[in-house]
Amino acid sequence: MLMSDVIERIDAESVALAAALYREVMAPPPRQTVTEWAEANRRLGGTESAEPGPYRVARTPYAREPQDCMSARSPVEEVVLMWAAQTSKTTLLLNCLGAAIGTNPGPIMIVWPTNTVAKRNSRQRVAPLLSESPQLAGKVRANRSRDKANTTLLKEFEGGILVIAGANSAADLRSTPVRDLFLDEVDNFPLDVDGEGDPSKLAEARQTTFARKKRLRSSTPTTKDFSRIEAAFDGSDRCRFHVPCPHCGAFQPLEFGADKPHGLKWDKAEGGSPVPTSVRYVCAAHGCEIREHHKRTMLAAGVWVAAMPGAQAGKVRGFHLNGLYSPLGWLSWGTIASEWYAAMQAVGRGDVTLLRVFVNTRLAETFEEQGDKANEHDLRRRAPNLPLGQVQRGMFVCTMGVDVQGDRLEAYLWAWGRGLERQLVDRQVIYGDPALAESEEGSPWAALTEYRKTPILHVSGLPVPIVAAFCDSGGHHTQAVYVYARAHQHEHLYACKGSSIGGRAILGKPTDQDVSWRGQKIKRGVKLWPVGTDTAKAEIYGRLRVAEAGPGYVHLSKQLPAEVFEQLTSERLVTRYIKGRARLQWVKPAGKRNEALDCAVYALAAAHFVGIDRWREGDWAKWEKRVAVKVEATPAPADEPVKPTPPAQRRRMRKVGRLAGGVR
Ligand SMILES: [Zn+2]
Repeated sequence: MLMSDVIERIDAESVALAAALYREVMAPPPRQTVTEWAEANRRLGGTESAEPGPYRVARTPYAREPQDCMSARSPVEEVVLMWAAQTSKTTLLLNCLGAAIGTNPGPIMIVWPTNTVAKRNSRQRVAPLLSESPQLAGKVRANRSRDKANTTLLKEFEGGILVIAGANSAADLRSTPVRDLFLDEVDNFPLDVDGEGDPSKLAEARQTTFARKKRLRSSTPTTKDFSRIEAAFDGSDRCRFHVPCPHCGAFQPLEFGADKPHGLKWDKAEGGSPVPTSVRYVCAAHGCEIREHHKRTMLAAGVWVAAMPGAQAGKVRGFHLNGLYSPLGWLSWGTIASEWYAAMQAVGRGDVTLLRVFVNTRLAETFEEQGDKANEHDLRRRAPNLPLGQVQRGMFVCTMGVDVQGDRLEAYLWAWGRGLERQLVDRQVIYGDPALAESEEGSPWAALTEYRKTPILHVSGLPVPIVAAFCDSGGHHTQAVYVYARAHQHEHLYACKGSSIGGRAILGKPTDQDVSWRGQKIKRGVKLWPVGTDTAKAEIYGRLRVAEAGPGYVHLSKQLPAEVFEQLTSERLVTRYIKGRARLQWVKPAGKRNEALDCAVYALAAAHFVGIDRWREGDWAKWEKRVAVKVEATPAPADEPVKPTPPAQRRRMRKVGRLAGGVR
């Protein structure tokens, strides 16, 4: 940002602030409620709603009270929305934002989990909001003469300013005071931003100047004890939406009721899947059977009922809404029933991923971590006697994770298939001083290069390429790793570094590193990829619990040394309290080694680097055709001996290795 831009921005912010403070003292707040404003001014576009057209609160009657608490006249200071997906949470937020800009302008800030999300939502949500309504368009257009006043993350309008920020940037969060604060998807905010603490607290600190402040905090919930939205909801008056039974008239909140006599029920077809036409809601009062078409009249007659009326002197209102309330034509009860069935099928295989998504996004409830159940002895007992170094059926590409210790390198080779089914194919411990350059006698790096270039065969007999290798530079010999990575990046070998800060993506954005080696310095010689170690370990431990071969399953072999099993399961997820906030942390018992787990983390990050986690059927089919045609057509015994590679196949392998390029 140029100095002149900074001055202009500060100028705009202080003008908005002064105007808002003046209005706070001198002018009464407008009478129009958010709902009234939205019905008069909002048109929903195709991106926001499946049904474009003027906004009508009758479509989602449960939105009226929460959004009207955000009206300028309401004494409520904070509205907490713990809502399922597809319940029009974003529309409600945009209604409140539009009403503030249109009727009660002042300094406003919206915070989304990251800068990227903030920019995307600014373009896809905020910009259409500002242009769709003639009233808002007029207010914003008045400023168009000064181009810099309207950027993606900063919008000036008559009498106010809108700052759009990402919760991952402390600098954006602390700036001038704001009167209205919108915190969206708070459960995806980082626990800590730039070492300055909780980003939502940083943003809230900006509101202290104002007496008539407003705050909207919304999210679908995530993990129990770590959910910001659940904590905020628990501290509110805890409202649930009660609707009347169309048959007996008894008011009740809609509950999924998996373990209750009331709730969503259905008949099962042969095989156990729900019969879509049979899905109904069983009334809690008299067992009446309610069909989904009743939902429209039920929602229209609904009322919010507080479990803790008067909590926080009525200043903080909390609203919980699950997916059963989703209006007709959006998310149907039949879809919810079949998603539940799919989640239960996955749980039967030991995979809780779908259940977690269901609980979070459909029930709008937190999911309780089951703790770490991966057991070294169970894993060994169940492991078949697969030959090492041979990729099994169902997996078609390899990645490698390399750990650097003081006296050795450890390399672990993983193969990948659909649904991130994976196999630990081989491991190699290479002794030698990593400070020795690759060209020097006894260098472990030369041995690593040789190991990486040794062909790996699929059970089909065709070679399987290593599409990426990640080498840890965080421990010993950082510069040696950079030098090696620089020399081999054309073979898709990269330097990485684990970050144990919670909530980081498995693969972050790379940074350029200088390479200095024995007095020589090369500026920005190599890219360093940050790896979200905690997230990756949680993924791996989740997969180790999957009990049946198929998507998500981890194939291990009895031929792997016992210490590999011990290391893979060496860490425990424990709850630690840091500055009063619960935090899940991976801890390694003293004296235990965990190179196998670290290398599994790096190999997983390498898989994410290639995009294996996002591959579609077409990508898999391509690789399957390339490496596994023979065996997938005619199943062969799993432990057939490894054949030596004829020269023709070696050539093909090099070609395949090249084809693996072009990633990212
Ligand atoms: Zn009833």
